[in-house]
Amino acid sequence: MPIDRDSWDLETLAVHADCREPFLGAVTEPIVLSTTFGQPEPGRPIRFEYGRSGNPTREALEQALASLEGANFGLAFASGSAATLNVLATLQPEAHVICGDDVYGGTFRLLEHARKTQRLEITRLDLRDIRAFENAFRPSTRLVWFETPTNPTLKVFDITLLSAVAAKYGVRVVVDNTFATPILQRPLSLGATAVVHSTTKYINGHSDVVGGAVLTNDSTLYEQLKWTQNALGAVPSPFDCYLTLRGIKTLPLRIRRSCETAAQLGTQLAAHPSVEHVFYPGLPDHPDHELAARQMNMPGAMISLQLRGGLEPARNFLMKLRLFTLAESLGAVESLAEHPASMTHASIPKAERDRLGISDGLVRLSVGIEAPKDLWADLEQALA
Ligand code: PLP
Repeated sequence: MPIDRDSWDLETLAVHADCREPFLGAVTEPIVLSTTFGQPEPGRPIRFEYGRSGNPTREALEQALASLEGANFGLAFASGSAATLNVLATLQPEAHVICGDDVYGGTFRLLEHARKTQRLEITRLDLRDIRAFENAFRPSTRLVWFETPTNPTLKVFDITLLSAVAAKYGVRVVVDNTFATPILQRPLSLGATAVVHSTTKYINGHSDVVGGAVLTNDSTLYEQLKWTQNALGAVPSPFDCYLTLRGIKTLPLRIRRSCETAAQLGTQLAAHPSVEHVFYPGLPDHPDHELAARQMNMPGAMISLQLRGGLEPARNFLMKLRLFTLAESLGAVESLAEHPASMTHASIPKAERDRLGISDGLVRLSVGIEAPKDLWADLEQALA
């Protein structure tokens, strides 16, 4: 009897999403490094043709990610930014894009680039304001793009509501699900057209692969992206695909552990006298706490905090950390800390950062899977 994968929980899917056609009984997906594939007759490849257009290890990753997000189609890219670039490349010149106001700095940079080179028109909005969102649609609107929770101020946007409004105008909704992963929320099941990931983060989870993906049920978008994937050529190596598949196996465990620890640290930080404000959707005073509880299985493992006194205390805190590594990126087994204004979000102009609450005193933490007591001891000594 064939296995009914549709009935599996995500924990089971994560472990068994690879190795679709076990090779000699192998229980993990083989790495196929070949860049080209022999053809029995000219122009008639058996299944794969050339490594940029398709590769068996990459296909295994694409299918694994698609099954986790509940998608029919998946495409893997060389980075999350490459995934974003490919989505933007599907837009015609002068298309209008509605974008969440708080996005990863590199996404902001790519959109600005597309504004100049593709003449895209971009409206940035706090998408919690549904009336402003409705009013932003124009006849030329082709894409709604947002992250939730957002990076780095951890606002939560209502995927179901935003997708329903966009559907009235026949506009695609793309959700960058990097911070939540399919373990916490599955945007396609809430009405989004596509999900983007920086698989560099939680999906791979071990700080040793840069990668990205787009997952969708929209066959037209898939065909467009399949074309740009091959034409632009920003594809991941088979070895990176293998490592990412390996990371996926423990994704549910890592996410659960990191989220549980983040919930504890968030509460402890909020009570600390040196901390002015904690941005964490798991705290009851977070403005989107109720939505996060409804939309997400757990509130995530990213915490941003505002230290009393601004830049200097923030810098001192980051430099005193011993267990948290001061580094860009997030979502790995090891805990990381960073300063968005000078690191991940430096490409956003200061005035825009200030408007968004990305102040010079803001610090972002990515909570890993270490023992909670050791992480708290590190935060406490750095705050002292
Ligand atoms: N989306 C989010 C939410 C991110 O945080 C990042 C990177 O930090 C990206 C996309 C870009 O991903 P990559 O660094 O893999 O290009």
